[in-house]
Amino acid sequence: MLTAIAGVNWGDEGKGRMVDLLSQDYDMVVRYQGGNNAGHTVVNHLGKFILNLLPSGILRPEVVNVMGNGMVVDLEHLCGEIARLREGGVAVSPENLKISDRAIICLPYHVMQDGLEENRLGDAKYGSTRRGIAPVYGDKYLKKGLRIGDLLDEEYLKKRAAEVLEWKNLTLTGVYGAEPMKFEDIWNWLQTYGRPIREYICDTGYFLNEAAAQGKRILFEAQLGALRDIDFGIYPFTSSSSTIAAYAPIGSGVPNLQLDRVVGIMKAYSSCVGEGPFTAELFGEEADRLREAGGEYGAATGRPRRVGPFDAVASRYGVRMQGATEIALTKMDVLSYLDQIPVCVAYEVDGQRVTEFPTGARLNRAKPILEYVPGWHCDISGCRRPEDLPQAAADYVRYLEKLVGCRIRYLSVGPEREQYLEW
Ligand code: GDP
Repeated sequence: MLTAIAGVNWGDEGKGRMVDLLSQDYDMVVRYQGGNNAGHTVVNHLGKFILNLLPSGILRPEVVNVMGNGMVVDLEHLCGEIARLREGGVAVSPENLKISDRAIICLPYHVMQDGLEENRLGDAKYGSTRRGIAPVYGDKYLKKGLRIGDLLDEEYLKKRAAEVLEWKNLTLTGVYGAEPMKFEDIWNWLQTYGRPIREYICDTGYFLNEAAAQGKRILFEAQLGALRDIDFGIYPFTSSSSTIAAYAPIGSGVPNLQLDRVVGIMKAYSSCVGEGPFTAELFGEEADRLREAGGEYGAATGRPRRVGPFDAVASRYGVRMQGATEIALTKMDVLSYLDQIPVCVAYEVDGQRVTEFPTGARLNRAKPILEYVPGWHCDISGCRRPEDLPQAAADYVRYLEKLVGCRIRYLSVGPEREQYLEW
């Protein structure tokens, strides 16, 4: 059984929490794209953990976790994340963590370049997390990346690192007028944070292919959401990687395998981090209330998230792009304070009602068309069966199912592992 869990919206849908829940039925959890630019929050009996690089299955001792070739890995961050988990009582070893030899290393100069570029852009900035993700993916496709597997051969690594640093310094000094980075510093960094990682390195494609052949159940975990995908998202306010489920087999080394199930994670309202069009955005008091109720502050950066009502146009598009076979609807409990729940059912673009998600400048001009549905106005976080839900809450779920044209299978009503119901 090969299942992907992928975000339908802008990210922060609560994927980490759903992977944590569903991973109990899987032998392996795989991350196949992105780096430490996003954060998954998982709350369990050991406490609250924010995972930026490690797959969420790391919190279950019997699950093997794989970081695939589609990822970009900041080694310093990874070492820190492993250390924090160990301090929290979570075991991390080569038995339960495998890192692809083909994943790309995110280096300090990528982080530096990310910050320099955002500063250069000033008010026109993209809202990058400044973790080096766009520069490191750029370098990957320019074929100037260092791979995780290069850490296994110091002579080769040293030669490659010297070559790419010489090239990178041309950009840092010539384009940004910054100081060049010293080879000794990069080399020390690679040794300090690369050596402890070496024991986890393997050919994850080979490993996963064998596992699938043995009938192991594999869960692919994406970061961010469909609207941040480099091809299908709100370009250029996208991430630099493929966040869609169809990329999962490629980004983990098994393009020969096909997914059986895609669980689309969809939030009961909208939230977004960073710049770019966000059609149904709320402002002022209304926004503050929703942001507070939902705790909408970035797990990776602490930045307040932009918030809005459920956006049916964007979500229906996200469901299609993910190829979702079913949906997990998260954060329903957050809407309990509302008497009336706004829902964005269509956009108005140049005087026309639009229900297909527009792109480019047309999206910039889109305005939300809202409908209001009755709220339930009571705490639903203790509901565990569909019949426990107040009528208005059940109606809201059915309404969303109809709007996006996909079955909702799970309903999350709180951040804790058991706060959900099967719909
Ligand atoms: P991810 O990147 O998609 O995993 O999302 P984040 O971890 O950034 O954001 C999800 C946040 O919402 C975390 O703080 C979760 O603990 C929390 N969360 C997840 N599902 C629910 C839910 O159903 N209700 C509430 N109240 N919080 C939730």
